[in-house]
Amino acid sequence: INKDNLRVLITDPMDKVMLQMLQEKGIKVDYQPEIERNTLVNTIDKYDVIVVRSRTKVDKEIIERGKNLKIIARAGIGLDNIDVDEAEKRNIKIVYAPGASTDSAVELTIGLMILGARPIYQGINMVRSGSFKKLPGIELAGKTIGIVGLGRIGTKVARVCQALDMKVVAYDVVDIRERSEKMGVTPVKTIDELVKQSDVISFHVTVGKDAKPIVTEEQFKSMKEGTILVNTSRAVAIDGKALLKYIDEKKLTLATDVFWHEPPKEDWEVKLAKHERVLITPHIGAQTKEAQYRVAVTTTKNLIEAIKELGVQ
Ligand code: NAD
Repeated sequence: INKDNLRVLITDPMDKVMLQMLQEKGIKVDYQPEIERNTLVNTIDKYDVIVVRSRTKVDKEIIERGKNLKIIARAGIGLDNIDVDEAEKRNIKIVYAPGASTDSAVELTIGLMILGARPIYQGINMVRSGSFKKLPGIELAGKTIGIVGLGRIGTKVARVCQALDMKVVAYDVVDIRERSEKMGVTPVKTIDELVKQSDVISFHVTVGKDAKPIVTEEQFKSMKEGTILVNTSRAVAIDGKALLKYIDEKKLTLATDVFWHEPPKEDWEVKLAKHERVLITPHIGAQTKEAQYRVAVTTTKNLIEAIKELGVQ
């Protein structure tokens, strides 16, 4: 193929730097940031490359119908809106932007943790409605945070928490002993050990949307009363129905940027979402000007590289 007949479809809103970078390389794109599912299903067979964020689901149907698809580019870090197995079967290359939104996700995590510890949100609402009372919270210094997934985001969250004089324990599926020792973090071998010690539990794992929950009923039973759960990774890391069951008994708080369905859909999700100790932001972890720019640049660089590898002249 040559550049003139390479067909690239962008199906979600992107920072304009992506369009500029592609244009500079002479790559033409169809930019349809609001394309509907039906249209996509019926036109995907014309394209060699599809570029998405999280809105567009590149599932089995899209991949099967995309007879000419060679590259899927995901402007972001999670791949849970892409059927990776199906793409691999068809030899379709996937490119994305790991790391580009780390700092923004870390900062939101710290914000959610503090919202969980202090009634900032409730206080602001109260003053707005004309009342002015003292609302109690807890201090984080001296408390233990359990980091589930000591990767890019987990590691930086750990460092910030150490600066707040919190004790940090961490659990991961890979061996984190060396990394932990260097950082002064205590590694634990099981999620149970982490849960039993932690006053705050923060999730930073990469898990597929069908993954088994890491924190289930068994862990909720041994959780400390008043534990604050913070999640900016993926909702499936927590068994949500089990959380609903234990939230009152254990006086748990959930401060989360991710939900099982976004927006909440099932009855149990709606119930949880309305709970007074559940604070949800609408998946804004990467929504900063800086992160969006970096995501676009990294994805585009990786995409241009992958197009080169196709042998496009
Ligand atoms: P990363 O790959 O650097 O780190 C993830 C860590 O989780 C790894 O160390 C991995 O071994 C560990 N892990 C995987 N499965 C695990 C399991 N079952 N139990 C324990 N540990 C496990 O990823 P990252 O860049 O730090 O991102 C972490 C998560 O944050 C991802 O899910 C990503 O999608 C999410 N994220 C969300 C937003 C947002 O908008 N809220 C923004 C950026 C990233």
